[in-house]
Amino acid sequence: MKKKVLVLGCGGVASVAIAKICQNSEVFSHLCIASRTLSKCDAMKEKWQPTTSTEISTEKIDANSKDQVVSLIKKFQPDVVLHLGMPYHNLVIMDACAECKVNYIDTAAYEPEDTSEPVWRAKYEKRCKEVGFTALLEYADQWAFDSKYKEIGKTAICGAGFDPGVTSVFVAYAKKHYFDRIDYIDILDCNGGDHGYPFATNFNTELNLREVSAMGDYYENGKWIQVPPMSVKYVYNFAQVGPKDMYLLHHEEIESLAKNYPEVKRFRFFMTFGQSYLTHMKCLENVGMLQSSPVMYEGREIIPIQFLKSLMPEPSSLGPRTVGKTNIGCIFRGVKDGKEKTIYIYNVCDHQESYKEVGSQAISYTTGVPAMIATELVATGVWNLTGALNCENFDPDPFMERLNKWGLPWVVDENPVLVEG
Ligand code: NDP
Repeated sequence: MKKKVLVLGCGGVASVAIAKICQNSEVFSHLCIASRTLSKCDAMKEKWQPTTSTEISTEKIDANSKDQVVSLIKKFQPDVVLHLGMPYHNLVIMDACAECKVNYIDTAAYEPEDTSEPVWRAKYEKRCKEVGFTALLEYADQWAFDSKYKEIGKTAICGAGFDPGVTSVFVAYAKKHYFDRIDYIDILDCNGGDHGYPFATNFNTELNLREVSAMGDYYENGKWIQVPPMSVKYVYNFAQVGPKDMYLLHHEEIESLAKNYPEVKRFRFFMTFGQSYLTHMKCLENVGMLQSSPVMYEGREIIPIQFLKSLMPEPSSLGPRTVGKTNIGCIFRGVKDGKEKTIYIYNVCDHQESYKEVGSQAISYTTGVPAMIATELVATGVWNLTGALNCENFDPDPFMERLNKWGLPWVVDENPVLVEG
């Protein structure tokens, strides 16, 4: 089909998406990998080029510079830009893609790098008051591109990883095939893996710690409700993992799902954590190490959370030492043919199997595979809605078929049980 994809970023998630793009050379004839550190892009090319007929090129880029993104798009002429760098750059890259009339896909909602920047701060404080959720990340600025993408006849997908991404597709699939009406949705993200470190994060450290230290928001009866971080705990017996404590967190797909499924009474998101992780995180927070605004240290500005990231193991280095499985999915409660029903749609992914296949642990695998699938669906025109959208806006069936084909098979459990902890 001769489709060209430009991947921006070359970290943990990108390494998996790149491996999968190379496995899918029937669709992708050309791949350009562009990131801040050119040597990482070159190493990827060296690793995968001998295995694929997809022609790989590499470029150095600062994704913060719209001019650089525009000139690379003009040079490479991709069908899709798959942004797998930092969400700080989503708006710049969406803007560049709109200018060049190219499709855009990412895996995480926009949030600013410096949360003390006054213009953003004023907007944020207004949103906290008026809309009611305090998370740093939100879709509003990305959805603002909707009319622009409609006008140019292109697709922008916000959030095509696992959660958001696959979980969003699970919602569309449940609604299409299992329910006349969905009343309650709980998204469960369980990492039953063990990397052997007392404290490490499975994806970008800075983003992970920002996410889990935020207030735990959920959405009920048209309103955001806030609870302190890690204050709501349940236990769920995850298939192939076992019983795990999981805690209520804010997560960006609640925002888009609440907009796209207004009939659903409640959306919540839960993630599992071990006690060691929680103790370390609380301690780091208490001493100020999770701060994302600059502080002065020995005459120069540093951002504490970025300094902390530099001391922690790179998530991409966890692959060889992580054992165990992830189990991520959605519990739905609703009505079909006049009868109440509850189902759990989920995927189980094995860290070591992922590592054997592509050299990465399951968190990067479960994000990089769906990112490649969404890219294929947009590049080939199977998903052809225009505007700035989320995965649940599209037909779920071709995506669900491809999850089975590309390594993330899913299961529908008709008897899930959630126990309050
Ligand atoms: P990494 O930190 O491993 O990778 C980020 C990459 O972006 C690195 O290669 C980095 O370059 C590059 N980068 C950073 N700044 C710039 C810049 N200014 N210009 C160009 N490149 C830059 O992150 P992950 O792979 O763990 O995460 C990638 C994305 O995936 C994040 O947005 C994350 O939130 C999202 N994610 C989504 C999930 C989902 O299920 N939806 C789950 C997990 C992650 P360098 O190599 O030089 O550092």
